[in-house]
Amino acid sequence: MAIFEIFSDYNHEQVVFCQDKVSGLKAIIAIHSTALGPSLGGTRMWQYANDEDALIDALRLSKGMSYKAAVAGLNLGGGKAVIIGDASKQKNELLFRTFGKFVEGLAGRYITAEDVGTSVKDMEYVRMETTYVTGISQAIGGSGDPSPVTGYGVYVGMKACASEMWGSDSLKNKKIVVQGAGKVASYLCEHLDSESAELYVCDINEDKVKELSSKVKLTVIKPEEVFNIDADIFSPNALGAIINDDSIDKIKAPIIAGGANNQLKDEKKHGKMLVDKGILYAPDYVINAGGLINVANELEGYIRDRALAQAESIYTVLKSVFATSKKENIPTYEASNKLAEQRIEQVGGINRIYSGRSEFSGKFNHFFRR
Ligand code: NAD
Repeated sequence: MAIFEIFSDYNHEQVVFCQDKVSGLKAIIAIHSTALGPSLGGTRMWQYANDEDALIDALRLSKGMSYKAAVAGLNLGGGKAVIIGDASKQKNELLFRTFGKFVEGLAGRYITAEDVGTSVKDMEYVRMETTYVTGISQAIGGSGDPSPVTGYGVYVGMKACASEMWGSDSLKNKKIVVQGAGKVASYLCEHLDSESAELYVCDINEDKVKELSSKVKLTVIKPEEVFNIDADIFSPNALGAIINDDSIDKIKAPIIAGGANNQLKDEKKHGKMLVDKGILYAPDYVINAGGLINVANELEGYIRDRALAQAESIYTVLKSVFATSKKENIPTYEASNKLAEQRIEQVGGINRIYSGRSEFSGKFNHFFRR
């Protein structure tokens, strides 16, 4: 494997391979960029087919985190870790505390959080060895479940889409199809219901929709009916790659705005197909940034109301994505990538201006490094 070629393709700052025979830990920590601040991103635990797949996943996901933080206006860089292993069999205290030691060794260049295959409990073990971890439970000073803030951000983002499409951001009486009735979708639906939107919700787990329908007014639909409704907005809040060759033909709604990650199966191809069909797509990592905004708040001492207030910025960020997309005649996903790259390049260079000795807290060597 030409490691540096892969590494350079994604333009990473640093990739760390961690191994410990005693705990059985095999992990990769990828730091894509620290131009805007410490890199932050979750730790995924997955049984990869081979080490190369694990590396590519870490590289791809950490780059995505740089873009997400940048466009959300956070002073954070992008990072991600993968632990290679079976999350249903190999998780234990020693594994995560060992991983915590490696995170601590990066001295704050990388801050971790939970992700697919890891839990709040696992992060609490990591926390025993390092303070560079977020997403721990509220009981021990963390921010807990990010879904309320993610769900609120998706709601606010949907309003930005409505304003762009119809000139008013009211969602009253709008027909909205919500795919998934999990955590993010539930909080989203509560906000939509309070604005009297007409909701059509499905989940492969019927109990989830049942539970949600006891809290909000909605029509239950079957998962396979998701594209049958003549909806105003389609909101994917379940799995990724839902926007693909097959589904684009069937989507009737003029707006796609949902919290699911990696909605476009092929960013370039399907982003363009949506434009050709006249569908306004809210780039997933922009509209679902509430989760990241939530954990970023934990770094400053968590206050839920502040996190919710910051998630409101998703409205204006999306409006500027749409404006860039229109002005430059490019798909919205490309416009958000462009805005993220611009901020990393421009704001990330802010330290070219020396603002005084206090900046270095008396660390003599800094004067030589510049
Ligand atoms: P969740 O597991 O609570 O909910 C997902 C729901 O989707 C589940 O109830 C599942 O049964 C359902 N589902 C799966 N496949 C389906 C299908 N084909 N049709 C209908 N329903 C289906 O997860 P969540 O935390 O609500 O996250 C939802 C999405 O949002 C994921 O893509 C996640 O990566 C993304 N996301 C979540 C957060 C967060 O704060 N939780 C933040 C950013 C992004």
